[in-house]
Amino acid sequence: MHHDTRSRTVTAPALLLTLVCTAAPLAMVWGAGGRGLSPHLVAALVGVICLVVALLLWRVLSQTAQLRAEVKEAHRQLGAERAARLQDQEAAALRYAELERQSQDERAELEVLYATAPIGLCVLDRDLRWLRINGHLAEINGIPASAHLGRTAYELLPGLAPQARRIVDQVMDSGLPLHGVEVRGETPARPGHERIWIEHFNPLRNSQGEVVAVNVVCQDVTEQVQAATALREADRRKDEFLATLAHELRNPLAPLRSGLDILQRAPAHSEVALRAQEMMARQLAYMVRLIDDLLDVSRIRTGKLELRRRRVAVQDVIDAAMESSRPRLDAAHHRLTLAVPTEPLAIDADPVRLAQVLSNLVNNAAKYTPPGGRIEVYARAVGDQAHITVTDNGMGIPASMLPHVFDLFTQVGHHAEHAQGGLGIGLSLARKLVALHGGTLEACSAGPGQGSTFTVTLPRQPGVSPSHLEADGAGTATPVPEIPATAPRPAPESDAVPPGPSARRVLIADDNLDAGATLAMLLELEGVTTRTVGNGPDALLELAAFRPHLFFCDIGMPGLDGHEVARQVRADPSHQRTVLIAVSGWGSDTDKRHAEAAGFDGHLTKPVDAQALRALLRVHLPD
Ligand code: ADP
Repeated sequence: MHHDTRSRTVTAPALLLTLVCTAAPLAMVWGAGGRGLSPHLVAALVGVICLVVALLLWRVLSQTAQLRAEVKEAHRQLGAERAARLQDQEAAALRYAELERQSQDERAELEVLYATAPIGLCVLDRDLRWLRINGHLAEINGIPASAHLGRTAYELLPGLAPQARRIVDQVMDSGLPLHGVEVRGETPARPGHERIWIEHFNPLRNSQGEVVAVNVVCQDVTEQVQAATALREADRRKDEFLATLAHELRNPLAPLRSGLDILQRAPAHSEVALRAQEMMARQLAYMVRLIDDLLDVSRIRTGKLELRRRRVAVQDVIDAAMESSRPRLDAAHHRLTLAVPTEPLAIDADPVRLAQVLSNLVNNAAKYTPPGGRIEVYARAVGDQAHITVTDNGMGIPASMLPHVFDLFTQVGHHAEHAQGGLGIGLSLARKLVALHGGTLEACSAGPGQGSTFTVTLPRQPGVSPSHLEADGAGTATPVPEIPATAPRPAPESDAVPPGPSARRVLIADDNLDAGATLAMLLELEGVTTRTVGNGPDALLELAAFRPHLFFCDIGMPGLDGHEVARQVRADPSHQRTVLIAVSGWGSDTDKRHAEAAGFDGHLTKPVDAQALRALLRVHLPD
């Protein structure tokens, strides 16, 4: 464009000048010719004029050519520049399109991530209004994601809003993130169930750097927290179980050790030696039973316990169970009521295992009922099932513990109150054994002090019981009249000869009768007069009547434990000279401190060592 203008400005005056220069001399020559100038002069003039014109023309033409060339060059450059610009523009457009595509892909990726992340995500503004929320958090809240948008926490989660208010305010005001905050509460997803979340809050800023919202990351940890709590509880129960196991194994060891000492000292085949042997055999059997129970638990857990099932009558199984439980009932002077149908109530069962279950229930009833209690065992047909119930009027079970008494190692109360012995595996084992028979075992109790009832339900073998047993069992059982579980206890040998005023008198209280009896035999070999009782209340009565110098008192006893007995003895000034010695399977320093605090003068851990016993007698009961 610039070159075009220039060529036009140069060419136009040049042509004009050429025309003027040509026309003027021609006119002058024309005029001179007319005025009669010589032809030579005219010819010379014309020649000069022609030369000038030619020169002018040449100049004009050469300038024009130059201008043209310049214009052409300018055009070429312009074209090249345009092409380069166009190329740049095209490259920029391509790059832009590429970036746009990349950012779209990334956005889509983030959207998918946000929507499908297995963790709750949301963005809340200052009013606790949801600006964004992912599916996982919507699921946690139990409200569709779309229903959150534009609504506030006050509207949808009023129970959680105040906590969220505090946290969001703190993050927005400080501009600092808040991580690992534990939040607890309910959502419409699971009304009535407290959930636990760990949440992280991060401030979100606009282009001016102002905090305008809060990004929330929410992880539901309810199950982990519950699992950790259950693990801690299982660990605690395991520790408690190990302590209980040690205690329970020590208990039979006491009469075993005393028995050995007696056998060493008493003449062979003497009455004392024979009694000691009997007791040792009994205690050994108890230890074997404990270990068998432990093995059974493990066998059931590993699926290795096999039932030897056959058609049996419930009545026969109950008889076998009562035979093994009777010594316990006798020892605690419980009264037993047994009511079974007159006709055989047939079931398909392993009689040994089922007797083990029933005996366990009756033993528990005996253990957890204060002496002189009432225990009832009923069997009856109910529809196509056989029901066996064991009811006692003992200490009962608190409602909160009812669902847990069948858990392995569970015992109601803590170890210092393990007055009744046992490992906390009996009921768990019993329920599993009944389940292997296709039946159920349930517990019910109106609460502490209200007694308990355990019911075994088993499928009946069809067509065995007479029809009058099949309706609902009402009136079908023939109750055996209430009988004392045992004949009145014979008075201890030492009762026969009232102690003289100089006699060294020792009272022994132990609910493990064999343990008490062997200790008494050992002491009598030392020339001491003894009396033995099996529970706390009897001990208090005997203390008043017998007025012992020394009182060996077991700690774990039903009804009134050794600590309570000691407190009552110490509160009574008439017993202030009696030396109180705790004899217990629990032997830790804490147990000894507890004994001392209750008023005991000394503590012996079972099994009692004969030498320690003799040393104690030398100190407290010199000849
Ligand atoms: P343990 O060896 O402690 O007797 P079990 O598994 O047989 O273990 O019983 C578990 C717990 O259930 C007992 O420690 C006791 O607290 C409670 N229990 C069982 N039977 C009775 C009952 N008849 N009356 C009251 N409590 C009972």
